[in-house]
Amino acid sequence: MAYNVLQSTHVNRRRLKNVTRGLCIAIVFLLGVLVYIQYLIGLNIRTNVITKGVVYSFEEWKRDDMVAPTTELETVVCKQPHLELNRPEIAHWFHDINRFTCTGRDDVFTIQDGVVTVDMVKVHKHIAPEFDKCQLWSFHRIDDEEAVFKNKVEERVVDTSDSVRLNFNVTTDFFRVKCGEFERYVSHIYPNPNLLVPQSRPVLKMSPNPFQDVSVLMLGFDSTSCLNFMRKLPKVYDYLTKEMGAVVLRGYNIVGDATAGAFIPILTGHTEAELPNVKRNTKNSQFVDAYPLIWKQYKKKGYATQFAEDMPGFAAFNLRLNGFKEQPTDHYMRPFWHKIDEGPTFCYGSVPKHVMMFDYLKEFHLAYESSRPRFGFTFLTQISHDDLNIIELVQQDLLNLLSGLYEEGHLNNTIMVVFSDHGPRYGNMRETLQGKIEERLPFMSIVLPDSIKRNHPKVLKTLQQNSDRLTTPFDMYATLADVIGHKDPHLPAPNGLPRAISLFTKIPANRTCQDAGIETHWCACLQWKSIPPEGSVATKVAKFLVAHINALIKPYMSLCHQLSIVNVTHAEAAEPDNQNGITYRDVQITVETTPGLALFEATVHITEKLGNDSMTVTSDISRINKYGHQSDCVLNTNPELRKYCYCREDKN
Ligand SMILES: [Zn+2]
Repeated sequence: MAYNVLQSTHVNRRRLKNVTRGLCIAIVFLLGVLVYIQYLIGLNIRTNVITKGVVYSFEEWKRDDMVAPTTELETVVCKQPHLELNRPEIAHWFHDINRFTCTGRDDVFTIQDGVVTVDMVKVHKHIAPEFDKCQLWSFHRIDDEEAVFKNKVEERVVDTSDSVRLNFNVTTDFFRVKCGEFERYVSHIYPNPNLLVPQSRPVLKMSPNPFQDVSVLMLGFDSTSCLNFMRKLPKVYDYLTKEMGAVVLRGYNIVGDATAGAFIPILTGHTEAELPNVKRNTKNSQFVDAYPLIWKQYKKKGYATQFAEDMPGFAAFNLRLNGFKEQPTDHYMRPFWHKIDEGPTFCYGSVPKHVMMFDYLKEFHLAYESSRPRFGFTFLTQISHDDLNIIELVQQDLLNLLSGLYEEGHLNNTIMVVFSDHGPRYGNMRETLQGKIEERLPFMSIVLPDSIKRNHPKVLKTLQQNSDRLTTPFDMYATLADVIGHKDPHLPAPNGLPRAISLFTKIPANRTCQDAGIETHWCACLQWKSIPPEGSVATKVAKFLVAHINALIKPYMSLCHQLSIVNVTHAEAAEPDNQNGITYRDVQITVETTPGLALFEATVHITEKLGNDSMTVTSDISRINKYGHQSDCVLNTNPELRKYCYCREDKN
C-alpha cells in the first residue's frame, strides 16, 4: 500500500511535471501568437494612417498627399512628410521680386590694406561743395549696446587726381570717415596682428584627426525653409549641390522656437533651459558669455573667429537675452550695424546690406588664410525675416561669393555650411499645413573641402548617407566639435543614446524624435491625424492652453489683457506609440484669441491617469501671426512675453 501510494505519488508528480511543461509551452506559444497579432495590428494601424489619410476641411490643410515615399526610405523610422516645392494651394504666396538696385548716393570711400581712398571722380559726379580736409574716427565697442568714436584724425586734402589717398592709419574693423558732406561708416576686417603670426602646432600634428586645421564658415539666412531656399535661390542651390558637392540635410528638424532656438543648440549642444539663465530683466541672469559656445573651443585651438549678424534689434543673443559683456569673437560686427541700422531699407547708400555682410565674411576668411584656421558665423536676418520672396534678391551676390571663394581655391581646406535657423514662423503661408511643416525643416547644407573628400572618402559617404536621416541642430554642434576633436563630456544622452551625433558618424535609421531630443511640438515626422477643431478634445485642449498662457501673463495684468478663445482653427492628434515609448497622446492645436486676434499653435501631452486626463503644454508655444506693436509695453521689460501680451490701450 505504502509502495502503491509512493508509486502513485511518483506517477502523479511526473504527470504534473508533463502537464506543467505542456502548459508552459502552450503559454509561450500563445504569447508568441499574441505578440505576432499585436505586431500585425500595429503594422495595420500604421499602414492605415499612411495609406488612407484623412479628409480635411481646409483646402490647404491636407496631410494625405504628403505621405513620405516608401521606397529607399523604408528603413528610416522618422520619415519626413513629402512636401512639394510648388503645390497649387500655396503657389499664390510666391511671386518674383523686381531686380534690386540701391539708389543711394555713391560710396566714394574704399579701404584696402588699412589705406582709405576717396574716389574723386565719383565725388565730382555729385554737385557738392568743395572740401579741403577729411576726418576719420575709429570705432570702439563698449558693450553690446554701445560703441564710441575715438581718436579723431584730420587730414588736409589737395584734390589733384582722380583718387585721393588718405594717410589715416586704420586699426579697427569699423570707422567713420567724412570729407565735406560725404560721410560714411565703413566696415572691413582689420586683422589682429597676433593672429597673423602662424602658430606652431606640434601637439595637433600628432593626432589622426582628418579635419586637422580645417576652417569652418557658416553662412545663414533667417526664416528660410529647405524648400524655400530651393524655390527662391534655385541657381545657388544648383551651384551648391552640383558644382560644390554640397550635402543637403533633408531630415534636418528644428528643436526650438525662433533664431535663439537654433543658435543655442548649434553653438552649445544644449537647449536654453539647460544652460545658465541669460534672460533679460530676470533675477540673477548672466551675460551670454556664460554659455559654452563652441567658438571658444575653436579659439583655444588657435583659430581666428568671427560672428556677424545684421539687424541688431533682432540679434539672437540680444533680443530676449542679455547679450555679451566681452566681445565674443575676434571679429564681431554688432557695433557696426548698431550705428548704421537704418530701418527697413535693404541698402546702405549705394550698397546692398547683404553685400556688406558677404564682404565681411570673405575678408575675414582671406585675412588669415596664410596664418590661422578660421571659424566664421555670419547670419542675415533682414533680407528673409518678414517675407518669403525677398531672399531671391541675394541670389546673384551669393552666387558670386560662393563661386569666388570656391573657384579661386579658398575653400580647399574649409567646410562651408549654408543654412537657415527655421522656416517661416508667421504669415499666410505659415497658417497652412505645408507652412507649419516647412517651419520645422530649415535649409542645412554642408560642403566638405577637397582635402577631406579626397583623403577621407568615407567621411563624405557617411555624410551623404545621413542626408535623409533625422538630424538636428544638436548634431550640428557635435559636428562642429568633431572638426576640432573636442570631446564634450556635458552632452545629455536620453535613453542611453547620444542626443547629439556628429554628422560624420552614421546616424541610426531608427532614430526617433525622442532619441534626437526633438519635442513633439517640433517633430515633423510624427504621424498626426486631423481631429475636429470644434470637437470636445480640441475644445478641452484649447481651454487648457489659453489658461496656461493667461497664467504666464497674470503677473503683468496691469500691462497685458487676459486672453479668451475666439475659435480653434486646426487640431491634430498623434496617438501613443508604445513601440517608441510614448505613453501619452499629443494634441496639436491652433487657437485664435481675443483681444488682438493672436494665433497660437501648441502641443499638449495628454496622459490618462485613473480615468482622469492630465495635460501639459510642451516647452514652446508658437505665435504664428505677427504681433507687430501689440506687445510694445513689454518689449524692453519682459521680452519673453512678446508673443503673448496684448498691451492695454494706455500702456503702449
Ligand atoms: Zn530666425
